[in-house]
Amino acid sequence: MHITALAGGVGGARFLRGLRQHLDGRDDGPHDLTIIGNTGDDITLFGLRVCPDLDTLLYTLGGGVHEGQGWGRAEDTFSVQGELAAYGAVPQWFRLGDLDIATHIARSQWLGQGATLSQVTERLAHRWGLPEQRIRLLPMTDSPVETHVVLAGDEPSAIHFQEWWVRLQASAPVDRFVVAGMDRAAAAPGVLDAIREADVVLLPPSNPVVSIGIILGVPGVREALRGTAAPVVGVSPIIGGAPVRGHADACLAAIGVESSSAAVAGLYTDFLDGWLIDPADRGITVPGVRIVDHDGPLLMTSVETAAGIAGAALDLASALRSP
Ligand code: GDP
Ligand code: CA
Repeated sequence: MHITALAGGVGGARFLRGLRQHLDGRDDGPHDLTIIGNTGDDITLFGLRVCPDLDTLLYTLGGGVHEGQGWGRAEDTFSVQGELAAYGAVPQWFRLGDLDIATHIARSQWLGQGATLSQVTERLAHRWGLPEQRIRLLPMTDSPVETHVVLAGDEPSAIHFQEWWVRLQASAPVDRFVVAGMDRAAAAPGVLDAIREADVVLLPPSNPVVSIGIILGVPGVREALRGTAAPVVGVSPIIGGAPVRGHADACLAAIGVESSSAAVAGLYTDFLDGWLIDPADRGITVPGVRIVDHDGPLLMTSVETAAGIAGAALDLASALRSP
């Protein structure tokens, strides 16, 4: 089976690690997983290109993530950042561990030598053992794109999404999100084919606005999702009206969408076939979408619970394939 998934950072990575474990436990393999990662979070800091969502996917799937945080490297130290602070170099609100910085140095060096982000990501994925797990990680685009936040107020001003999310904790009122560079962007090699040729397409419980929503804005992605013969199944990032972690509610409010599982599925109705929800949301309806509630909390509290959720999403996909 060829599975293709769209993914942001922590929510996406935890789900996909569970999916890999679920697939490894089946006897009908081998199964291939292609991940299309959000690059709207990307930012240049101290001259280094940082791709937060791709790195969270690499570290989580490669076994190197800081489990408690859900991002960054386990047991990292912060000597370089401390030294930068001593020089008065800014910004200091973005945490960069020493081990993590090596990733950004390697990426920036290879990009500087003319490699595409796809090629760089493939090299990084090799170090984290993704090919051995039959996982292919593709950036959504090779063009540099960045999600910016236009702040609400009399004097329009825009800041990088990371500054709004990390420094301001998503508290400043938003007028709108804009993706700088998207007008010149094209889907990275393999992205559209991975959607068209998949047996199943999954939307993990990633942020619907600034992760999935950004990937859907890449030219051709939405059309490929509408056109694919594969069932498209999503996992709700909202449980009982609240995001499980992060500030997805602030992002949804900014685009005028209610923080509810039904409203999030409503953003995808032009291509979504199935939607896995928490039992707390049982009874919601979305036109044209088969909704199934999970037989336990839709919470990825461990790799095992995430594997259970991933298995339920695949069960829903096969039910949709053979009605
Ligand atoms: P980010 O890029 O690190 O913000 O991560 P993602 O965009 O991939 O996912 C963030 C979203 O995942 C959050 O807004 C939550 O709504 C959702 N999420 C995180 N953990 C869980 C979980 O255990 N269960 C569910 N259903 N959703 C989760
Ligand atoms: Ca992210």
